[in-house]
Parts: sequence; C-alpha cells; structure tokens
Amino acid sequence: ATSPPPGYAPLLKDWENFYTRRLYHRIRDCWERPVCSAPGGRITVVERDSPDGNKTMLMTKRTRECLNLGSYNYLGFADDWQTSCKSHVMPTLDNFNSCLCSARMDLGTSREHVRLEELVARYVGKEAALVYNMGFGTNSTTIPALVGRGSLIISDTMNHSSIVAGSRASGALVRTFVHNDAASLERVLRDAIARGMPRTHRPWRKILVMVEGIYSMEGEICNLKGIVEVVKRYGVYLYVDEAHSIGALGETGRGICEYAGVDPADVDILMGTFTKSFGGMGGYIAGDKALIQYLRRASAGSVYHNSLSTLVCSQVYRALRVIMGEDGTDTGRRKIAALRNNSNHMRRELIKMGCHVYGDYDSPIIPVMLYNPTKIAAFSREAFMRGLAVVVVGFPATPIVLSRTRICVSAGHTRKEIERALEVIEELVDLLRLRYANNVMG
Ligand code: PMP
Repeated sequence: ATSPPPGYAPLLKDWENFYTRRLYHRIRDCWERPVCSAPGGRITVVERDSPDGNKTMLMTKRTRECLNLGSYNYLGFADDWQTSCKSHVMPTLDNFNSCLCSARMDLGTSREHVRLEELVARYVGKEAALVYNMGFGTNSTTIPALVGRGSLIISDTMNHSSIVAGSRASGALVRTFVHNDAASLERVLRDAIARGMPRTHRPWRKILVMVEGIYSMEGEICNLKGIVEVVKRYGVYLYVDEAHSIGALGETGRGICEYAGVDPADVDILMGTFTKSFGGMGGYIAGDKALIQYLRRASAGSVYHNSLSTLVCSQVYRALRVIMGEDGTDTGRRKIAALRNNSNHMRRELIKMGCHVYGDYDSPIIPVMLYNPTKIAAFSREAFMRGLAVVVVGFPATPIVLSRTRICVSAGHTRKEIERALEVIEELVDLLRLRYANNVMG
C-alpha cells in the first residue's frame, strides 16, 4: 500500500490499525465463516485451515454440519421454507425474475410490494406501511426524512448502529438516556425542553424518542409502557425499532406493543425488519397514512434505493400470512409458542449452569458473557470443533471487557438439538471457566 503523504493520517482508522494487527488479525476465522446451506436449526459451514478468507473457501471442500445458534431464524422459516414458502415464491420468480431494477418511486413498485405493505400495516395495527430493501437502510434513510437541524433525537444508549447512522445523517442534535430507563429519559427530556436549542434557547422544532423492542446485543426487552408514559406526558414523538421483536414477542407475534400491552396508536413510528422472524430481507415503516405518503417521496430509501426484491416480497408475504393464521392452519401460533419455549428453556439452563446471561426471559437473543476478549476465539473455535456454530461479539460492538457470545434460539430447533447445544456449551463453560459461583445475573 502507498504510504500517506506527510501530515496525513493513514487510510485505516486508528482503532482498526491497533486491534486488527494486535488482536483480531489472528482470529479472523471466527467471523465470516462461509456457509453452504440455508440458515436453519442446523447449518453447513465450510472449514478453513487459515484465516485467509475466500481464497481458502474456494479451494477447500471440507464442510461441517453444525447446530446453528447464530442466525436470526426466529420462527424457523429457514427450516420449512420448501414447504411453507417455496410454491408461493416460484410464480414470482417466473414473472419478475429477482429484481425490478428500479427505485420504488420509478418502476420499482409491483403488486407484490403493495399487498405486502397492506398486510404489514394490518398486522402491526397501523393505517399504512412502506417497505424498504434493507433493514439498516430503513432506519438510516427514514430518520433524516423525519428530523433535521433544530430537532432533537433522544436515543437509548444501546440503540443499533443503523439508528445511530440515521440520527447522525439527519443533522438533529442527539442526546442519549440510560439504557431502558424511563426515569432517565424523563430527566433528559425535561432538561432539553427547559433549555431549548443550544445558544438561541428557542423551542425545539420536534423531539423524537428512539427505542428498540428487543435490544440486539443485550437481549433485553424494552420497557415500552414506561417509555410511552413519559413520551405522552411531554407530547413528543416515539419511534420503535422492532427488528428483533416483531414476530417474536406477544401471543400472536405482533411485537413489543402486544407484549407490553401498549396501544400501537401510542407509537408514532413502528419500524421493523424482515431478516429475523420472517426469514427474508428488507424492512418496513408503519404509521399513519399521511406519514407513509410523505416518506414515499421524502426518504432516500424509497426515492433512491432499488426496491425490495419481488421474490422476497412474496416470501415475506407468505411467511406473514402463516404467522397470522391466514393460511388456514395454526402453524404460525405453534412457531411463536415453540420460539418462546425454546428461548426460555435455553436461558433457564444456562443460568443454572452458572453462566452470566444478559437479557430477559421471552427474548430469543441470549448473550452469554465471556468478558475477556481473549476468550472470543477460544469459544468460537472450540464450539465449531464440537459442531456448534455461534456468533461471538467484541469491541467495537461491545465494550472491550464485555465480550460475549450471542446465542439466537429458533422455533426450528428441536428439543433434542437444544439439549445437545447445552451439553456442548457446558463443556466450553468448564474449559474456559465461564461458571460464576455468585450468579448475580440468575
Ligand atoms: N435494527 C436493529 C435493532 C437490528 O438489530 C438490525 C440488524 N440486526 C437492523 C436494524 C438492520 O436490519 P437488517 O440487518 O435487516 O438490515
């Protein structure tokens, strides 16, 4: 690589230089392991001898079938895709190929998009919805369309990177409140309203509070009732990211509002993704008609991004019909119940084992704390050798001494698979000394 001219910083950021060289460079095989099957309860992973990325993948033929504790296949649609979705998607493939090669605004809207939007709106209890080709882009392009200079965003400290990106891009001032703490939100709000905008002290144009239904690194469920009380008292707007909670929480999978007993009318913007419970791709914004009509013209995701693949529209539409019981069976209900049973069983057993487990019961995200970053590689490799595919997370996604493995449970896991996974984890817990005598987390 060329060396930078005098006075210029190197192209890579400082932390990347430091950590890539000193720590992550030697353990790159723990991430981006190539897979060669659908992300069901089991997944086939390509074995790699060296952390040398794709080159090795193309050369090696050795694969390993693993129990999959890493993918977000919450309702198990990756497991029964062939029977539940395939026959509904194939006519779309014949008709449209895979993509409309156009933005929604231009020639990128099909009947598949429109009917999916109608169904999503009905499901989440809002007047209208708009679908996007990416969950990340849903947040990062919607937020700047809603607020800008002169507005204030009050964001949970643990909000996802897509919310952070959208908030920064919007030009609004961003303040944070203590994670999931309605009292802290109220303090920040009261203070911000009393002071007004910096320097001029004029009133804010808009104030938008941003939270998530289930926090993706913490596995914690939002205290939505408490948050809504504060938001209503101060008359500000509320945006809830339901990426992990839609389909996964509530008796009928309608997400955090159903779970917390909150009327969807009390949330101004309901955002969600299709990448978790629905086994698809893309995201949505649901709200009242005027808001959605406005976003169709104002958000970059609608105006400038290629539209969501028609194939994915059909697949997600079908998955949602199954979840809603509109396929004439109780498969949806059974999936939702199986997810909850599997998640709670896994969490209970890990706590009994003495692990430090973050998050709440009913959440399919179960972070098990490794703490020390040197345990990241050990956990990932030893698990893989025993036929368990896991996700390990460290800095910068978490503070460096709060490294963890993030287990995702699925309705597609059989009880036998969960038991086998627990056996393997117990071996790893002993090997890596992850048992804590005073299990304060339990
Ligand atoms: N919001 C949250 C809370 C997420 O966890 C994620 C990704 N896991 C996204 C948005 C982005 O969604 P996608 O991966 O579908 O782009």
